[in-house]
This record gives sequence, structure tokens and C-alpha cells, in this order.
Amino acid sequence: MVALAAMSRFEATNRFFDEAARTMGLPKTIERLLITPLRELQVQVAFERDDGSVATFIGYRVQHDNARGPMKGGLRYHPAVDLDEVRSLASLMTWKTAVVGIPYGGAKGGVTCDPKELSENELQRLTRVFVDQIHEVIGPDRDIPAPDVNTNAQVMAWIMAQYSKYHGHSPAVVTGKPLELYGSAGREAATGRGLSIVCREALAAKGSSIEGSRFAIQGFGNVGSWVARRIHHAGGRVIAVSDVEGGVLNPEGLDVPALFSHARETGSVVGFEGSDWISNDQLLTLECDVLIPAALGDVFSPELAREVRAATIVEGANGPTGPDADRVFRERGIEVYPDILSNAGGVTVSYFEWVQNVQQFSWTEERVNRELEHTMVKAYKTLRQMADEKGLPLRTAAFVLAIGRVAKATSLRGI
Ligand code: NAD
Repeated sequence: MVALAAMSRFEATNRFFDEAARTMGLPKTIERLLITPLRELQVQVAFERDDGSVATFIGYRVQHDNARGPMKGGLRYHPAVDLDEVRSLASLMTWKTAVVGIPYGGAKGGVTCDPKELSENELQRLTRVFVDQIHEVIGPDRDIPAPDVNTNAQVMAWIMAQYSKYHGHSPAVVTGKPLELYGSAGREAATGRGLSIVCREALAAKGSSIEGSRFAIQGFGNVGSWVARRIHHAGGRVIAVSDVEGGVLNPEGLDVPALFSHARETGSVVGFEGSDWISNDQLLTLECDVLIPAALGDVFSPELAREVRAATIVEGANGPTGPDADRVFRERGIEVYPDILSNAGGVTVSYFEWVQNVQQFSWTEERVNRELEHTMVKAYKTLRQMADEKGLPLRTAAFVLAIGRVAKATSLRGI
């Protein structure tokens, strides 16, 4: 999955930033100001394992920009987490929150570990120690973590509980919490729901619709499984999905609810009845109407990008397409709906959860979904119009929109 051997993840993200900044004629001094993260924290995460031995991991929190509001971004537990990746993901959050116009800046965190090798109790101890190490720099008005790869509502509940030990009752310090503990209706499905809204609008722009279109989805975790369910529900044909173990294909369309049960029971989509096994690379090069990468970053090498046969790509994962692969897609006329628009449904409903926590008032699921629909469609339309008027690829238009908003807020506040 590593296509950017020569280029760091942060450099790759900044190549997109640079292209947009040039289009805007942004002064170099402002470019440097906006690119440079506000704060980067690296901490030791040491705890006692169940067998009495000591485990020591490294944890990170990068706070990229707070001109438009408190910083916001997920927390990832994965062996590939490093400072460069977290830095890149933190800056993407700054641009993403600006694209959808919610009053946040960008941050991201992670712990370099393989959670599959940890028991539930060990995961809890790791999470609480990580909070011990970062609690002074996060908070409801400073920086609000959320779930990302291998973290979930339970992990968010531990974060809230541990933070509250230091600072008093603080449900708004973290989002993506369980419903029973100040979570929001609709948050778990929100990223997948937002993606399906972008798919619907993207297909409508081509005179088509989700109904009857063919989709291939890489990743079947929170994002992948929810977008698959939303598309199936809307009459789309999900012909292939994959996870870390491999993929499954049925050209007639997979029975997504049954596949979801299978994955929950067995731990993987592989082996699903009535499907053929395919590799992750085969999935990415299937002929289909919409390809949704919804696993990890850097999934397309330029060589693989030349083999892609999807008409449209809607990015569910953060950073699945590096600048070289992106250029190939542009040359080949494959339209890419960038992560900073497409997967923004999650942070949007995280914002709604935070608003509910601050107001101490719960919204109905119907209201959450209505506001999400409004926010995503508005962002989509603004971007589409900007891309068409200025003749820009959607990703460049998204960066132009975001940089413009962050630069304006920065200059209004004064440096
Ligand atoms: P998750 O941990 O719930 O699921 C990840 C999925 O990817 C799993 O199905 C896993 O098996 C699969 N996967 C892992 N490594 C793989 C590999 N090498 N090849 C193929 N599949 C692999 O994570 P998630 O929350 O669904 O996040 C997925 C992506 O979406 C990440 O890039 C994340 O940053 C991004 N994202 C998540 C949210 C959210 O709300 N959870 C919001 C915006 C963006």
C-alpha cells in the first residue's frame, strides 16, 4: 500500500496545497504560516500488560491550525502511525472543516501500536495513559479528538472519563461517544452517509443515479460498511468490497446486510457465500461506475492508477491518492471527489454532537441527518460551482476554497 516512497505524507498533502496556493496567488509568507503546524506533541505511552510486563508505545497529537475554531481530528491506533502521517492528517482536517464550513480547525492523533495484539483491558490502559499525557493540550474549546482507524465509541468513552478526572465533567472533550454517554444519534453512520450523498450528487451531475450504478469499496470498517449499506439501501449495486484480509466480488451485486453479518461473525468479508475472492489491487482496478477507497492512505501507485477502470472515485479514506496518482487520474479523465469534501460527514456530525453536548440538549436522528444533508449538499454545490467557473479539478477547488477561508480568518484575527 505504500506508493510514496520518495515523498512524505505531509509533503504529498502540501503538493495539493501548493498547487491551490499558486492558483490563488497566495504570498509565500502566508503559505508558510498556513502550512506550519501550531503544535506537535510526542509522548510515551507506557502501561502494564495483563501478564505483568511493561509495554511502551509512542503517541502523537498534532494541532495544525485554530484560526477558525477549536481543533478537531481523529485518533488512530495502527502500527504505521508516525509523526509525518499524523501531521499530514492534521492539516487535512484544517482544510476539511473549512470546506464544509464548520467552526473548527484541524488536529490529529495516533498511537503506534497493533491493537489486535492488545486485550480490551490493555487497550483501556493505553487510552487512559495517552490521555494522562495529552490532557493539558486538549479540551472542549481547544482540541476535540474523535474515532479513526481502530478506535471506536468505547475508546472515546474512556477518553471522556479520563479527561473528566482532571477537568471535571467534560462530555464535549471528545466526539463519537456511545449514545448512552453523550453521543449523537447518527454519528456512527455519518461518514458513510455523507459519502453516499456525494456519490448521489456526483452521479446526478452525469445524468445518472445510485440506483443501478456499480460500486467497488475498499475497506469494510466504520466508513466502508456504512457507505456500502447506504448505497445498497438506495438501490446501488455494490459489486465488490474488501478488508485487510482480501476482497469479495459478485458482479450482480452483493447482499450487503448479509455480508455485514458475515463480517461481524467471522471478522472478515472473505469467504462470503455467493462471492468470488479478489485481491485489494484487483478491487481497485475493477470496471465500475464509482470506486470508493475507504481503508488507509496511499493506496494508488501511479502504475496502479493507470489500471483503474472506474469512471469516478469518491475518497472515503484520508489521503488515498498521492499527487502522482492524482495526476494520472486527471490525465485519464477520471473524476476524483477529494477526501476533504467526500468524507467530511463524520466531522460534520461530530460538530453536531459537540453542539448538543455544549447545549446539554439532544437532537433526534432525523434532525442530525437533515442538517448533515444540508451541510454536505451546500459544500458540494459550492465546490462544483468553483471548479466549473475556474476550470479547476475538484481537489484543487476544494483546497482553494479551504485555504481562502482559513487565510481570511487568520488575517481578521491578526498575526
Ligand atoms: P476502521 O478501522 O473502522 O476500518 C478500516 C478498514 O480498512 C477495515 O475494514 C480494515 O480491514 C481495512 N484495512 C486495513 N488495512 C487494509 C489494507 N492494507 N488493505 C485493505 N483494507 C485494509 O476505520 P474507519 O474509521 O472506517 O476509517 C477508514 C478510513 O476512513 C481511514 O482513512 C480514516 O482516516 C478515514 N475516515 C474515517 C472517518 C470516521 O468517521 N471513522 C471519518 C473520515 C475519514
